[in-house]
Amino acid sequence: MIIAIDGPAATGKSTTAKALAERLGFTYLDTGAMYRAITLLILQKKVQIGENFALISLLKKFDLKIQQHEKQILVILNGEDVSNEIRRLDVTKYVSEVSALSAVRKSLVKIQRKIAKDQNCVVEGRDIGTIVFPDAEVKFYVVADYDVRAKRRLLDFKKLGEEKSIDELIEELKNRDKYDSEREHSPLLKANDAIEVDTTNLTIEEQVNFMFKKVKLIKG
Ligand code: C5P
Repeated sequence: MIIAIDGPAATGKSTTAKALAERLGFTYLDTGAMYRAITLLILQKKVQIGENFALISLLKKFDLKIQQHEKQILVILNGEDVSNEIRRLDVTKYVSEVSALSAVRKSLVKIQRKIAKDQNCVVEGRDIGTIVFPDAEVKFYVVADYDVRAKRRLLDFKKLGEEKSIDELIEELKNRDKYDSEREHSPLLKANDAIEVDTTNLTIEEQVNFMFKKVKLIKG
């Protein structure tokens, strides 16, 4: 069984998806982490961001694994744990540009489908309910107001020791939403049959409870 969770950045998607997977005993798959890992690889190898020969050869020989270690999800790129590095500011800056490339999407979607083939999964991303798993049994689309999203992002940045203003963060979120929604391949879009969850005034517990109840209602 696949549960698809899509929506823009900083809406509480990841925290909720992770908690929901844990409660259901499902595997949690963070596809954003996979796009971040490829972005990190491109930056490490100093490959120009675009559909070029160097990118195509890079995509032919990388090894990406998502492993669960106790409560932590580890992202292993070419044998190296890059779980922290993929959250770096430069990776965040370039990830939307990288994930707009069709070759990158094709390569990662293939891995995502393979991972979810034989197991129950909560899969989180931007195009899960529309493109990757259009037949997912349950689909959610998570949204929240910009103010709340920027405040949540502020806390993430504080943990990384970065200072940013709320206005700056709102601007960044708006730019990222615009880029993700207007790109040609697999744009950020709510699937027709997705249940919208507005987390603006919800606690994490309330979000998870709401989604858990919906899953039980649909699937028993
Ligand atoms: O979820 P997160 O914010 O870590 O995702 C980083 C970026 O990866 C998104 O802004 C989006 O550009 C891209 N992404 C995507 N498709 C997905 C998941 C993430 O294009 N399924």
